[in-house]
Amino acid sequence: MADVTPTNAPEMPLQRRAPVHAPLSQFVVGEGDLIVGGQPLRQLVARVGQTPFFAYDRQLLAARVKTLRNTLPPNIKLHYAMKANPMPAVVGVMAGLVDGIDVASAGELKVALDMGANAAEISFAGPGKRDIELRQAVAAGVLVNVESARELPALARAAAELGLPARVAVRVNPDFELKGSGMKMGGGPKQFGVDAEQVPDLLADIGRLGLAFEGFHLFAGSQNLKAESICEAQQKSYELALRLSRHAPSPVKFLNLGGGFGIPYFPGETALDLTPIAANLAELAGRASVDFPQAHLVIELGRYFVGEAGIYVTRVVDRKVSRGQVFLVTDGGLNHHLSASGNFGQVIRKNYPVTVIRAGDSAAAHAGTELASVVGPLCTPLDLLADKMALPVAAEGDWVVIFQSGAYGASASPAGFLSQPLFAEVLV
Ligand SMILES: *Cc1c(COP(=O)(O)O)cnc(C)c1O
Repeated sequence: MADVTPTNAPEMPLQRRAPVHAPLSQFVVGEGDLIVGGQPLRQLVARVGQTPFFAYDRQLLAARVKTLRNTLPPNIKLHYAMKANPMPAVVGVMAGLVDGIDVASAGELKVALDMGANAAEISFAGPGKRDIELRQAVAAGVLVNVESARELPALARAAAELGLPARVAVRVNPDFELKGSGMKMGGGPKQFGVDAEQVPDLLADIGRLGLAFEGFHLFAGSQNLKAESICEAQQKSYELALRLSRHAPSPVKFLNLGGGFGIPYFPGETALDLTPIAANLAELAGRASVDFPQAHLVIELGRYFVGEAGIYVTRVVDRKVSRGQVFLVTDGGLNHHLSASGNFGQVIRKNYPVTVIRAGDSAAAHAGTELASVVGPLCTPLDLLADKMALPVAAEGDWVVIFQSGAYGASASPAGFLSQPLFAEVLV
């Protein structure tokens, strides 16, 4: 058994000086096969009955939650931001492991409730919540993270009609940015949250309308691998919440300091160091026990929980050589995995960790490594899953596996583009 080191094999001189992908330790290979959820890939492919598919490993989901629980202070609540992976079975597993689920639409709210998440611990964020969605949230008894003054009268109407409290927190667009973040979602002009300087007036309106104020939600950004930037954002978020709380109509019970924990995708990236984050959160929890004696501190994470637990598996349909360059043409592409193609928020396209697993008898027929590009079946040059990577020599029928695919894969991809067959999804 050895760790999968999926790319940039050292025998390729071209790649020698390039940064390499961090070795993946969550999956193991044995006998030329990949073990997922305790099953060899060839058995898993047979059980799924088709390629392409996404597979998520439930033991890895549990292990990740356990690591966070063991590392972070015990009084920090963990929420799962289910937009990272809304597969109902995954949400069901996560609902049993974490303290709350964060949803970003009434559709996600339905899945969370269907899968048994506790409504009292669900929060609903997102710009452009429609009146009907706000009414559904009040009826379900979940916390609404208000992102616009427009939401307040709609929530008050729903509460009056239904005879239920409208539970609200204010999502604040902070007056700072999360440094080193893959995707910034706070600071400067943004469609997310209410600008910090407008929050005092909004809090007054919440009091006037009799909404049930619970606290603040601050989310500065996503996919951050720098612990010190995350700590700085948490500190600034805390200070901002403390300042704003002086205008609050009632004590703060909920303080969501955001998340943004990243995972390594690309050559040269390494795993986030949780130790300084744990120390920072312990310090803030200590202060909160004085400043906000009734409050729960929450962090909300999406990809950090699920991203590394998932793989995407696609089958080689053709191996073409064009003017000396090898192309492995697969039965799935950006229509299933837009993120791996580099078209989901990447500025410069980089390769995800990818490997080839040989199917059946073909293993005997070829060996070694070659530079190859993996492309999907779509008629667009954007449909590129791996660009000139050192991969085991593949033949028709072999499988290409893309790692770090548990988040922003299936649900973040344009599945209808070019009318190709849909992927399958399994939890193993
Ligand atoms: C997308 C999102 C998250 C999850 O981000 P990850 O990078 O997957 O951890 C958390 N909170 C909010 C408000 C989001 O919009």
